[in-house]
Amino acid sequence: RAKVRGRGIMAFYDQAMDQEVRERRQMEADLRQAIERCEIQLVYQPMRSVAGGEVCGYEALVRWQHPVHGQLSPKVFLPIAEDTGIIIALGEWVLREACRTASRWPVETRVAVNISPVQFRLANLAFVVSRILDETGLSPERLELEITESALIKDRPATLETLRQIKALGVAIVMDDFGTGYSSLSNLQSFPFDKIKIDRSFIAAMGEDENARSIMRAVIGLGRSLALPVTAEGIETPEQYNMVADEGCAQVQGYLFGKPNPAPCEDFGTADSGYPRDVAQNTA
Ligand code: C2E
Ligand code: MG
Ligand code: MG
Ligand code: MG
Repeated sequence: RAKVRGRGIMAFYDQAMDQEVRERRQMEADLRQAIERCEIQLVYQPMRSVAGGEVCGYEALVRWQHPVHGQLSPKVFLPIAEDTGIIIALGEWVLREACRTASRWPVETRVAVNISPVQFRLANLAFVVSRILDETGLSPERLELEITESALIKDRPATLETLRQIKALGVAIVMDDFGTGYSSLSNLQSFPFDKIKIDRSFIAAMGEDENARSIMRAVIGLGRSLALPVTAEGIETPEQYNMVADEGCAQVQGYLFGKPNPAPCEDFGTADSGYPRDVAQNTA
């Protein structure tokens, strides 16, 4: 009897797995065509300087407007893009689109682009970056590439060489999501970073968690010792802003200052729009 029931459960699992595999294959097939179907879009989130309160750059974040599932988060489709290699074409599209768009902004602010570890394993990433800068006419000083520590675990000499080539172009390299994943202080020593971003999870936990506050302070202190500016991401409240600003954080980013937006240029006329008054006063 148990056997019969067992078989039934197996059949159920088989069916569920079939369904999952089918959905994933469909998603893959959809993703392969998403660029040419113009379903991929970039949104831009402002980064603000703590010292002056001005926008010092925008981070480009990818979105997929799926014909059936609606707008999908990169957390859903980037893993598929990375497993299948689609990320190579997608990442190149993102970089070109971000540079092209930024080259048309009425102010010469920076644009930050996230680079997947899979893109980093390509030997020719620096060449791709250089070609896209040429094509779009964006000045290299206006481009920042954000990479996470997972990009640094495999083949460190090759990664270091790629980073050096990209820096030689005049492009800045940012260590994203610092403190999560495979954090190692030696990464900061061995690789030529220009900026550190503290992960949003520490900012979110600062309110109740003394340890999260300590880590935030330590990261900002580390940045100061290494002469690397630190950005705090995911700032949602004036309290969070005050805590990181008091510690000497250089830049802030988060819903408090602006959500990712397809057309950030519209804010450019009024650089201070959306900047909360109490926060603005605190920076004075
Ligand atoms: P990330 O690079 O750390 O980007 C910050 C994420 O935090 C973004 O999520 C942003 O929308 C979100 N965020 C910003 N401020 C706040 C806030 O105040 N509160 C909350 N709750 N969230 C905030 P998003 O756009 O979903 O992107 C998630 C991750 O996907 C990014 O994390 C990045 O690792 C990756 N990603 C996004 N776009 C690209 C891309 O074009 N290429 C690659 N390779 N990865 C990308
Ligand atoms: Mg990022
Ligand atoms: Mg980040
Ligand atoms: Mg993050």
